[in-house]
Amino acid sequence: MDEIRIDSVVRSRRRTIALVITPEARLIVRAPLRAPVALIDEAVREKAGWIRKKMAEMHARPQAVCHAYEEGEIFWFLGRSYPLHIADDGRGIIERTDRLVVSQNARPDIPTAIHRWYIDEARKEINARCMYFSMMTGYSPKSISLSGARRRWGSCSTRGTINFSWRLIQAPLEIVDYVIVHEFVHLRQHDHSNLFWAKVKELMPDYERRRKWLRENERLMRI
Ligand SMILES: [Zn+2]
Repeated sequence: MDEIRIDSVVRSRRRTIALVITPEARLIVRAPLRAPVALIDEAVREKAGWIRKKMAEMHARPQAVCHAYEEGEIFWFLGRSYPLHIADDGRGIIERTDRLVVSQNARPDIPTAIHRWYIDEARKEINARCMYFSMMTGYSPKSISLSGARRRWGSCSTRGTINFSWRLIQAPLEIVDYVIVHEFVHLRQHDHSNLFWAKVKELMPDYERRRKWLRENERLMRI
């Protein structure tokens, strides 16, 4: 069997050795300051089966898209993939059919045009879903705004205002819904206590699955 390669050893004031497989399928070992190398190697050998399985899982996941905004490149919208098409005719600037059609007129700044399109669409979708959940739950934020945050999908202030990242609109609707419910519950429960999660679960019994999806697929939403 092949030797397992350790990509990095991070030493800190901890008591035990922990193995972490990153989404890029790299093996990171967290170890106590003075743990001997032999002990680390042994831990890796012992867990070889688990490491290989995890790495295979990470490789099987869709890889992050690095956008160059070129013809045929994939863009995500509400969980569906749309290849980019740069069209000669200049009807609307951007149109979503089975592709994301951007007119030549958007040149030279196609990325900005696409970002603006995402922001407009995100505003429509997220506002509509917020209205729906307000009716369903009785929770209602003072205001809803959008940001361009890359990992912070939503946030809720103590003043009762909620903010969502427009980038969230790349995820399937059920994931958008989870983030909305999560922030709505924060309107009354500002921490992540057991009580908070119990309320989320009451409104959305399968929230754990959705939350996991978000953790595992956030790199698909890099734009
Ligand atoms: Zn939260």
